Amino acid sequence: MTTAVSFQSVSRHYSAVKAVDRVDLDVQAGEFFAMLGPSGSGKTTSLRLIAGFEQPTAGHIEIFGETAEGVPPYRRNVNTVFQDYALFPHLNVLDNVAYGLMVRGVPRAERHRATEEVLAMVKLPGYGDRRPGQLSGGQRQRVALARALVNRPKVLLLDEPLGALDLKLREQMQEELKSLQRQLGITFVFVTHDQGEALSMADRVAVFSDGRIMQVGTPQEIYQRPASRFVADFVGSSNVLPPDFVQRYSGQRGWGSLRPESIRIQAEAAGDGVPARVVSKSYLGAATRVVLEAEGLRINAILPAGARLPEDGEAVVLTFNRENMHVMEEG
Ligand code: ADP
Ligand code: MG
Repeated sequence: MTTAVSFQSVSRHYSAVKAVDRVDLDVQAGEFFAMLGPSGSGKTTSLRLIAGFEQPTAGHIEIFGETAEGVPPYRRNVNTVFQDYALFPHLNVLDNVAYGLMVRGVPRAERHRATEEVLAMVKLPGYGDRRPGQLSGGQRQRVALARALVNRPKVLLLDEPLGALDLKLREQMQEELKSLQRQLGITFVFVTHDQGEALSMADRVAVFSDGRIMQVGTPQEIYQRPASRFVADFVGSSNVLPPDFVQRYSGQRGWGSLRPESIRIQAEAAGDGVPARVVSKSYLGAATRVVLEAEGLRINAILPAGARLPEDGEAVVLTFNRENMHVMEEG
């Protein structure tokens, strides 16, 4: 396996602000890698360090086995797609996309051929003459993508590229980006604060908090076996439960995480389980979320369509399979 990007104890501090703090990271070649975390957790700074727009204040970065120190952005074989597209408004689509090739002195005919090819790839064939102002948001994002891909980078960095799109378009672009990545085999490093987006698109996810990486793993690992309360809380709507609760109802030691979809709700008379009271319900379409109170804690359950819905205020009993209570390594 080839390592595309390697961080060895990399920091980028701005005086007292530790934007990136002692991060170790290996992104494999050909991987769709997501950096997930709340705003201000150091995702953009990490991308800028890979791109070469920023230098580490400590630590070491390698790109395909070569040290990145002293290598300027344009010599790194890395391209970036930004959330705000950053297209040149006065140039048409063709010239926007061909810009990088022109700077590198690629002859005009070859530039045209490569640009048309990549515009077809992002499903904008024949759009070369238009100006960015004549395109929709989704189309502009495709142009930004084409402009990065035309240089055939070995690593493509994407900083919240779908953040400005509405839900339907975003879901469509998620699928297209994923299939484009598979087809081209380019390493993607994809930044997002949207956990659903990270889990559905990535081969592996790194969860960031305060300039540190809290956990790296496959979407399944991150979702089903969060390493800490932070990850359990941030990645989805898991119930984070304190040690005394976990001990009493599952016999295990430590903080637990219990997915809302693993909880069943039964009538009070049903017996064994966690006594609880229904606080509220919300209809989600394919399922219903039920908020409950038990032992002074708020607990979320997700019931599939067709399940019996309890009444608000009803006294009920919660049950779950013991193996669905995941005990976390750290508190
Ligand atoms: P994210 O992309 O996860 O939202 P950033 O990497 O942009 O986070 O920022 C991480 C932290 O570093 C934030 O607290 C941010 O304010 C700070 N930061 C980023 N760039 C600079 C800079 N050029 N100067 C000072 N502080 C910065
Ligand atoms: Mg950012």
